[in-house]
Amino acid sequence: MTAITAKQRAALKRALNIRRRQIELALRGDTERLQAEAEDASAGVPDRAEQATHDVSVDLAVAAVRRDGDELDAIDAALQRIDQLDYGSCLDCGRPIAYERLKLFPEASRCVSCQAQSEKGTGLNTRSL
Ligand SMILES: [Zn+2]
Repeated sequence: MTAITAKQRAALKRALNIRRRQIELALRGDTERLQAEAEDASAGVPDRAEQATHDVSVDLAVAAVRRDGDELDAIDAALQRIDQLDYGSCLDCGRPIAYERLKLFPEASRCVSCQAQSEKGTGLNTRSL
C-alpha cells in the first residue's frame, strides 16, 4: 500500500472542510434545540407524559451535541495533520491508511486494524472500516 498522493490529499482536505461546516451547522441546531427545551421546561410544569418525552428529546440532543463535538475535534486534528507528512499514516503503526478508508473517514487517524484494536480496548462500538 502506498501513501496518498497530493491530489488525493487535496480532495480529502476539501471533504474535511465540508464535513466540518455540516457538523457546525448541525451542532448549532442541536444547541438551539436544547436551549428551547430548557426554556419550555422553565415556562411551566409539564405533566408526567410530557416530561418523559421532554427528557428523551433532551437526552438525544445532548448525545448528538457530544457526538458532533467529538467528530469536530477529530476533523480539526485531521485538518492540522493534513498539511504535514504524517497525515494518512496510522498513528499507532505508522503504515499508510488506505485511501478508500480516508475517503469515507478523512478524519481517521488509525488504520483499520489499529482502530479495531483501540476500540476493543475501550469497548466502544463505533464505526469500523
Ligand atoms: Zn495501524
